[in-house]
Amino acid sequence: MTIILDGKQLKEKILLKLKEKINNFEKKPSLTVILVGDNPASQIYVNNKRKTAEAIGINSNIIKYPKTISEKELLEKIHELNKDDRVNAILVQLPLPEHISKEKVINLINPQKDVDGFTPYNFGKLFSGEKPFVYPCTPKGILILLDEYNIDLDGKHVVIVGRSNIVGKPLSQMILNRNATVTICHSHTKNLAEITKTADILVSAVGENIIEEKMLKSGCIVVDVGIFKDSTGRTRGDVDFENVSKIASYISPVPGGVGPMTIASLMLNTIELFEKQNIKTPL
Ligand code: NAP
Repeated sequence: MTIILDGKQLKEKILLKLKEKINNFEKKPSLTVILVGDNPASQIYVNNKRKTAEAIGINSNIIKYPKTISEKELLEKIHELNKDDRVNAILVQLPLPEHISKEKVINLINPQKDVDGFTPYNFGKLFSGEKPFVYPCTPKGILILLDEYNIDLDGKHVVIVGRSNIVGKPLSQMILNRNATVTICHSHTKNLAEITKTADILVSAVGENIIEEKMLKSGCIVVDVGIFKDSTGRTRGDVDFENVSKIASYISPVPGGVGPMTIASLMLNTIELFEKQNIKTPL
């Protein structure tokens, strides 16, 4: 029988615990999100983040700019937020307009407030095997989901399709730290199906419906990160869920799998940063 990796339910469980925790804090943690332009998907993501944050007692502030904002003005704002003690966590919603350097913007965020874990400091810590202030949200959410179902990674062959900085790369390192054998595939990978066939655990983060039943071995664990609208407007993942779920031992659905876990991780990260910033060193 195939078990569904239910991210939606787990997210609710995590949020309930976080709400109780925040209730006991003397002051509320705060998350500031910067949104540039009017990308409809970004607006939906940002509103969902705000609603979730507010529902559990995190003060959330969205700073909206038109897509014509200059890079200089945006960098100045980040500098200001870095210095503001009332701001515990900063998130810049991507993508940014082309005239603004994503790297410059991310590099300026104070690593202690970098709720996505994307700054070179936090990324470097992760890749050198040290602890970053926080781990990137989507990979962190995937590992929490696998842990919830007692899926042990030690010695497993994990194949990740997709090598982006937000999913594939950081996930590969986090999984390596759990003693899995990791293979990363991408658009130049030859004979993708031959590699995915060898996966004990397959994680797909591409954004196209490319993973079919014939590419996997029976009993494989399947984590679908992809999310996009098909030509009919239906929300889809990378995996042919209907057929792959017939042979997989565990599978995450889209929607309701990795997406909710990313939001839960964002809330966890906000609270972790808040707690680290508020540690009282004994006299
Ligand atoms: P991205 O930056 O566009 O990266 C996509 C990756 O897929 C690239 O590494 C690309 O290879 C690879 N790829 C493209 N076509 C391929 C093919 N035919 N065979 C093998 N690999 C191929 O995307 P992303 O930001 O990582 O996001 C990926 C998907 O996950 C999107 O649908 C996104 O919406 C979704 N996502 C969901 C969540 C969530 O919380 N659920 C979070 C983040 C992202 P190259 O590097 O060679 O170009």
